[in-house]
Amino acid sequence: MHSHLYRFLKWPEIKQAAQDGAVVVIPVAAIEQHGLHLPVDMDNLAVEYVTEEAARRSDGLMLTLPIVHYGFNEHNMGFPGTITIREEVFMDFCYDIGHSLVRQGFDRIVYVNAHGSNQMLCNLVARRLVNNTSALAAALPHWNLAREVVDKIRESEYPGGMAHACEFETSIYLYLKPELVEKDKMVAETPSKLSKFIYDDLFGSGPVHFVNRWSRVTQSGVEGDPFKATAEKGRQILEAEISNLIEFARSFRDMPNLPDADLNYQRRPK
Ligand SMILES: [Zn+2]
Repeated sequence: MHSHLYRFLKWPEIKQAAQDGAVVVIPVAAIEQHGLHLPVDMDNLAVEYVTEEAARRSDGLMLTLPIVHYGFNEHNMGFPGTITIREEVFMDFCYDIGHSLVRQGFDRIVYVNAHGSNQMLCNLVARRLVNNTSALAAALPHWNLAREVVDKIRESEYPGGMAHACEFETSIYLYLKPELVEKDKMVAETPSKLSKFIYDDLFGSGPVHFVNRWSRVTQSGVEGDPFKATAEKGRQILEAEISNLIEFARSFRDMPNLPDADLNYQRRPK
């Protein structure tokens, strides 16, 4: 049965899912360089697995859409393999997907993102939906769902050890598709530790937001320490993300969607 995957449904089934109040998940990723040892589909692979598996286990609560494969990636264009979508285009595209769902009657929409630079844009897209429609929409990066387990299993230094093609991402790839990880090409680099104020880590970045062009600061494209990665860590990370995503979807479904109040002075009676 594939009733948890939007792409395999017929329109009456999708209408029924809207009527049943399904939480719709839009996975968002990127095609970008991930160092010398990981394929460019890293973010796609991770977020597709987490969102599809969560929906499969959610007992009809969640419905996962086909993935948005490409993201906002201008900073990484110094490396071959990266595809970038201009930020306005990316936002409009992601908004239009969510808005199409609202027009069908869905009212709980979640963007689950796998690429750091997409996150601020996905946050704005979700807010645009909340501001412009009657639906509730939220956005998160999938690694936020793994905070507790990462606290326990992390071996790389903080900050910097888990940022890009790192202990975190390599562990996920080693679990899902180990045959494509070229371990003998792994390199550890932590170029994201620039100052006391500027550092980058999936589990807590510095107080100042600053993203340089990556080819200026890393030779390999890696930010972090892939040598600390294992398939078992990948399994634990993904399992935690899946169960937390289901739990979040349930609480989001149950969150009241209250009517608007307008307390402004009304010049004419409505
Ligand atoms: Zn990545």
